Amino acid sequence: TVFADLDIHPLLLKSLDQMGFEEPTPIQKDVLPIAKTGKDVIGQAQTGTGKTAAFGIPLIEKMEQETRLPQGIVLAPTRELAIQVAEELNKIGRYSSVRALPIYGGQEIGRQIRALKNRPQIIVATPGRLQDHMRRGTIKLSDINTVVLDEADEMLSMGFVEEIEEILESVPDNRQTLLFSATMPPRLQSILNKYMNDPAQVKV
Ligand code: AMP
Repeated sequence: TVFADLDIHPLLLKSLDQMGFEEPTPIQKDVLPIAKTGKDVIGQAQTGTGKTAAFGIPLIEKMEQETRLPQGIVLAPTRELAIQVAEELNKIGRYSSVRALPIYGGQEIGRQIRALKNRPQIIVATPGRLQDHMRRGTIKLSDINTVVLDEADEMLSMGFVEEIEEILESVPDNRQTLLFSATMPPRLQSILNKYMNDPAQVKV
């Protein structure tokens, strides 16, 4: 299989090619077609398997470029991961007008509020800082159609359960939810049962 067989937009194929991605990794092969149908997906995968592009490609394709309101949220456990994921999304989306902005704790909030004025379609955030923006009204969640939980088990270990639940309760119900985790502890299972809709399971 090559990326061109997966029905990916030519402008994304161009950037993937420039990034040196020749063949999709197993998680990309499995997740891409399911995610495209709009179905919820649970991907059990370690870091290094290509999970970022597995959710990033369908996420970028789904964004309406003209709608300059956040439509996609990626939640990540650490600022380093948030920055890294936003960078990869911006590389994949280089030839589109879809932009991802990392939002994380420890960075001056005023600077983030100014960066939000560039109207990114995708926000890649650590849960606590996103909750802070929600409460200040500086990030609107009314147009969110996709939420990705990246390294969900790590976010739970770091104590972000309440933040994640508040975020998932504040986004529209008819969104698509994609969840990636290396492990599936029971605490995570109960969040899945509550907030995901008949998810497809993919394990690599
Ligand atoms: P991730 O698991 O998303 O952190 O990805 C691990 C590394 O593999 C990153 O440096 C990606 O840029 C790279 N990568 C992801 N998918 C592919 C692919 N299909 N071909 C080559 N490299 C890839």
